[in-house]
Amino acid sequence: MSTQSANKPKADILVIDDTPENLALLSQMLTEKGYKVRSVTKGSTGIRGAKAALPDLILLDVKMPQMNGYEVCEQLKADERTRNIPIIFISALGDVGDKVKAFQAGGVDYITKPFQVEEVLARVDTHLIIQRLQNQLQQQNTVLQQEIKERAAAEEKFAKAFRSCPSPIAIATLADGHFVDVNRSFLMMSGYTQEEIIGRPMAEIYSESAMATFTEVVQQSQQKGFVRNQEFQFSTKLGAIKIVLLSLELIELGGTPCSLSILNDITERKRLENEFISLVSHELRTPMTSMMGALDLLSSGQLGTLTDQGKQVLDIATKNTERLIRLVNDILDLERMKSGKITMKKVRCNMAQLLIQAVETMKPMAEQARVNLKLEPCSVELEVDPDRIIQTFTNLLSNAIKFSEPGKTVWLKSVLNSKHLQITVEDRGRGIPADKLQVIFERFQQVDTSDSRQKGGTGLGLAICRHIVEQHDGRIWVESEFGRGSTFYITLPLSDEAKGEALVI
Ligand code: ADP
Repeated sequence: MSTQSANKPKADILVIDDTPENLALLSQMLTEKGYKVRSVTKGSTGIRGAKAALPDLILLDVKMPQMNGYEVCEQLKADERTRNIPIIFISALGDVGDKVKAFQAGGVDYITKPFQVEEVLARVDTHLIIQRLQNQLQQQNTVLQQEIKERAAAEEKFAKAFRSCPSPIAIATLADGHFVDVNRSFLMMSGYTQEEIIGRPMAEIYSESAMATFTEVVQQSQQKGFVRNQEFQFSTKLGAIKIVLLSLELIELGGTPCSLSILNDITERKRLENEFISLVSHELRTPMTSMMGALDLLSSGQLGTLTDQGKQVLDIATKNTERLIRLVNDILDLERMKSGKITMKKVRCNMAQLLIQAVETMKPMAEQARVNLKLEPCSVELEVDPDRIIQTFTNLLSNAIKFSEPGKTVWLKSVLNSKHLQITVEDRGRGIPADKLQVIFERFQQVDTSDSRQKGGTGLGLAICRHIVEQHDGRIWVESEFGRGSTFYITLPLSDEAKGEALVI
């Protein structure tokens, strides 16, 4: 206890003893040790003094006239302000009963007279230390209680926001993809109850293709930290298809890595959009067909001979009208497919023949673009709609040719495994940036807004391809290195008979 600064006393000690010699002795030895000492000879004066200025410790004689030490102690303990001051009894009474009484009254220690100076000092020191530690503990406890309160308030705030958020939210474990928590909006949108969702694997709620999209979104989040507004489809408990924009963030919940998905239901918006587009397209088709007829008539020369400049202008008008007709036809085609007005007419087909046919169809375009077409077909029989499957292959080939420089090669390959036939269309063209790999399968999504004008596309081809492939229970996706080329993948499931019958030619 020698660390005190020179002018600041170690502690304030109140000594209450009716024997002046004892008082003098205690006072002297404590003062010598650097304590500030107040001494009084009467219990009532001691209580007043303690209340007026709280001492750090009290040395209290037991036997005193008028009010004995036990009574003084009890009164001090009864007062909120003085309750925590440690009191050490000093008395000539030495039997066990007296000591017990002293502790019952609230004393922390008991010293028997005649006392040893070192003993008194040692006990005073010890109790001051204990008192200081107790105070520290209490302070820490208060801080901790405050922190707990703030944390509980923050959690409550989060829980409230989570529960009452109008957007559906789902939390699932990253490792095994089980739902941990979902909010009310999620339950309302999906049609499931809390019990049917919590603890269940996501794969039982989301379809295979939804799970594939979800897994890709998680992978992207692992690279970027989050993903915003990725279009995502899933079917409700009653089978209704919901189109949502999925935003995903990776979080830790109680030490477990989880995905936090926030969904924005755009099903209705999409429906209105579709309705509008198909309405406009229907209205456009008739006048455009008649426009095309008129242009054909003009170019046939039946209405008179055009100048060279006139022919050029007519040519531009014809090309643009053709593009518009293609666009309207594609829109209507997609709309009819989506609404189920066009169904797939599936028949048993040799896939090698369909691949050959697709290449034959695209040969003129490839030749004109001076792009080599290579085919690696694979002979297997599948139940498919041949026209629609050829349409898919030609669309992918047409894109691959369109986005390749002259002299490059485009490959149409097929590989068989035990479950699928995988078809790939590979090019060494301009490639697709990573953030567009998913969106290009949506309607009107093009990497470059000038693609439709410069390359004559409609931005609908891949949306149609995806629809056709999904109607065959297959999957379509693309991998690409920007600037180095792209590979489009299609997997089509094998029929039971086809499995194992595969023959590569
Ligand atoms: P489009 O009629 O515009 O070709 P698609 O839906 O077929 O419409 O393709 C959408 C967009 O995807 C294209 O406009 C282009 O930006 C990009 N794309 C498709 N295939 C390729 C490819 N092989 N290489 C580079 N970009 C491609």
